[in-house]
Amino acid sequence: MIWNKAESAPREEIEATQLERLRETASRVYAISPFYKQKFDELGILPQDIKSIDDIAKLPFTKKQDLRDHYPFGLFCVPMSEVVRIHSSSGTTGKPTVVGYNAHDMEVWNEVMARVYTMAGVTAKDVVHNGYGYGLFTGGLGFHYGAEKVGATIVPASGGFTDRQLMLMRDFGATVLACTPSFALHLAEVAAKAGSEFRKDYKLKVGIFGAEPTSKGLKEAVAKSWDIRYQEVYGLSEIIGPGVSSSCEYSDRLHIFEDHFLAEIIDPKTGEVLPEGQRGELVITTLTKQALPIIRYRTGDITSIIKEPCKCGRTHARMESIVGRADDMLIVNGVNVYPSQVEHVIANSEGVTLNYQIIASKKGHLDKLEIMVEVSDDVMRDNIGELENIKKRIQDDLLNNLYINAAVKLVEPSTIERSMGKAVRVIDKRKEA
Ligand SMILES: [Zn+2]
Repeated sequence: MIWNKAESAPREEIEATQLERLRETASRVYAISPFYKQKFDELGILPQDIKSIDDIAKLPFTKKQDLRDHYPFGLFCVPMSEVVRIHSSSGTTGKPTVVGYNAHDMEVWNEVMARVYTMAGVTAKDVVHNGYGYGLFTGGLGFHYGAEKVGATIVPASGGFTDRQLMLMRDFGATVLACTPSFALHLAEVAAKAGSEFRKDYKLKVGIFGAEPTSKGLKEAVAKSWDIRYQEVYGLSEIIGPGVSSSCEYSDRLHIFEDHFLAEIIDPKTGEVLPEGQRGELVITTLTKQALPIIRYRTGDITSIIKEPCKCGRTHARMESIVGRADDMLIVNGVNVYPSQVEHVIANSEGVTLNYQIIASKKGHLDKLEIMVEVSDDVMRDNIGELENIKKRIQDDLLNNLYINAAVKLVEPSTIERSMGKAVRVIDKRKEA
């Protein structure tokens, strides 16, 4: 089931729509926003210079700091009388980023969320248990109005109160669970402890999860514990909130709603646009937002995008589940290494725990990478042969999957220092040198 036929439009039609909307958006911000006018002028570019989609590479980037610098409403492009909703980040590290929506933007948001729900097979017959937090965070209300748009019954449970949430899910016959994956797992664990028989006590068939970085292992654990399909949703408040992209039933990759969002992948160090399929930082331009249009927003999220059509019939390009954060990236002998990728390899290795540390250092002119991993309790630590095998397997996997040549060092459980209860994952000694 596809909510809007725009999701299955021919590629040329999608790109023609994007170009038209990109030009409109550029013209609007140039005319209305002093911030963007100055940025365009500095680069010597005018909105009418955009002749093809590729010309987007000539436009300036927008960063999170730009939103902070113009706190709270400095980047809005409509009068406040037109703004109908404000959301904001928690601002735990400085000023929060504030975003605003006019009535048209709300329609766009509900539309893209309706697409997400339809991808999950949700209809008017479903009961959606919404465990995303309601408030300034975009999760709660984003999922709320999208569910209403497809005519489903929404239960605005918000976060917390695990036992009560489980009771409501059971008694109201929730068929859809929307919340963060870690909360879904927590709910499942509590339900299991209470002796629930999931298939009998609950009617859940699908979960729509997002809003936090998630490893493949966690996704599988959530899907397995509830015995449901795991649908992933991606979004960020600076762009709209949840509903930028979502995975369909045929693919782990997430369809980007390209008629509303223009996505690029850039090299996080040089800012250069990378070819299709290559991994880099996701950059998004809003194509239809009015209150807070954003040009080339640097999400800091690492992913790749492919445009080949999907079995589901949608033609919108697909991004991988976020691989890591651009800030965490290490460059080792010219190869980009993301700690989350290393973690993925370790998670799939036998005989070791997820307590590890990546240490980068210099050896002559070359970078050296060492990965310390604590072995699990059940490994025979006096069996040198077994330890050698474990070590070699991890080294081979790192080389074959990530093209990195690392020396793996196995250590005893609880050897790696924890600071404030949290292990330090990466130590880059090259910076100190
Ligand atoms: Zn698909």
